[in-house]
Amino acid sequence: MFIGHYAAAFSLKSVEKKASLGMLFIAVQFVDYLFFILVPLGVEKFRLVENYTAINHFDLYFYPYTHGLLASVIWAVLIYGLWRYMPSFKAMGNGRVALVMGLAVLSHWFVDLIVHTPDLPLLGDNSPKVGLGLWHNFMGTILLEVALLIGGLLLYLRSTKGVGALGKYAMIIFVVINDLSLYDGGDRAV
Ligand SMILES: [Zn+2]
Repeated sequence: MFIGHYAAAFSLKSVEKKASLGMLFIAVQFVDYLFFILVPLGVEKFRLVENYTAINHFDLYFYPYTHGLLASVIWAVLIYGLWRYMPSFKAMGNGRVALVMGLAVLSHWFVDLIVHTPDLPLLGDNSPKVGLGLWHNFMGTILLEVALLIGGLLLYLRSTKGVGALGKYAMIIFVVINDLSLYDGGDRAV
């Protein structure tokens, strides 16, 4: 899942307007960014397997620190704590902002759950792994990504008042550009 994650950012922004949409965009992809840092360090692992799913060639066989449910909860709590108690982050909002930032981080796991093959551990790497496997269905994945994104975007646009037309259209253009680059080579959809 890639752009579908932004649906969570838009939805959370619509319930807590003081939250920064830019920060929420980062938060919903936080564990993927972490994954791309940990892989070169050899901490987490994947291998390329031709046509592993209809969407990409990734066998994500070891990533409990970024894509385990337990780890996701821990990262979410850490991000919540950062926003709640660290002065420089605290300045960006109140307790509710901290809460939506934490939820944004956690949302990643549940959105990934829909599309990934059963490779998402519940606890550590030896615990049961889950994933509903929508990535095996190319059109189903694309439709879900787009539907999620449009749903989230509509929620956000409905909740904004006083944002000029320019701001709204800039957001739509951002989304469309992301959409066009979707699955370019299938290598961004972790
Ligand atoms: Zn992911």
